[in-house]
Amino acid sequence: MAHFMCRTCGTEHADSLQPPGLCRICSDERQYVGWQGQAWTTHEELAATHRNRLEMDQDLFGIGIAPAFAIPQRALHLPEARLLWETTALVTDEAVAEIKRRGGVERIAISHPHFYSAMVRWSEALGGVPIFVHENDRLWVSRPSRWLEFWRGDTLDLGRGATLLRCPGHFPGSSVLHWRDGPKGRSLLLAGDSLHVAQDRRHVSFMYSVPNHIPAKPEHVRETQARLRGLAFDDVYGFTWGLNIIGGGRAAVDASFERYFSMVSR
Ligand SMILES: [Zn+2]
Ligand SMILES: [Zn+2]
Repeated sequence: MAHFMCRTCGTEHADSLQPPGLCRICSDERQYVGWQGQAWTTHEELAATHRNRLEMDQDLFGIGIAPAFAIPQRALHLPEARLLWETTALVTDEAVAEIKRRGGVERIAISHPHFYSAMVRWSEALGGVPIFVHENDRLWVSRPSRWLEFWRGDTLDLGRGATLLRCPGHFPGSSVLHWRDGPKGRSLLLAGDSLHVAQDRRHVSFMYSVPNHIPAKPEHVRETQARLRGLAFDDVYGFTWGLNIIGGGRAAVDASFERYFSMVSR
């Protein structure tokens, strides 16, 4: 028995004797099956050839994978919020020890299914901590676990200045994390793929599919705009290393809503 892991998205699956037929996440129109066909690995195999990339991303400590594997998201540690935002496909003792050295975590929150990766393995490695996943995306969970906490509604106050906000358009349960009390007195918006930070790092866009270039429906973007209205934040952290808007985050997001609607509306 093994927890087979999709090589394209890094999602770990429930224990099985044989690899599943297709990865549900990659066979969905928001993702893609690898050009050589569906391929699987295991955490054990991955750990033999890869390590966790552990370094600061601007003001937050990040955890990624080196060399690159699957979707290149990086997790972020929010020590005062007792939270790990997103996870990766690889969990090493070195990464767990470093998170604990930096104050540890009491919970994990994940923006959407593309970053489910090895979230259950991460929870267990951190001592068994709840993993907050939106109820609307429950059907995308490939490895069930008692640590999963399915939250409902549009906002969830996690305390310590951290709030989850559902911002649909990418997935029905896609969420961002607002952290009012970030380092250096800054407030942060951790965007996942709900607000996709553009390469100019001065704008965001709103995508149903990032790799397949399908824009989000305007009605969903309007809902996201309404949900974020009145929320202050200095910086926007995108899904991967360095893809961040540092300073003027609120104004950049407002300008991006305007730009999006000017392009998609008649
Ligand atoms: Zn996959
Ligand atoms: Zn995504």
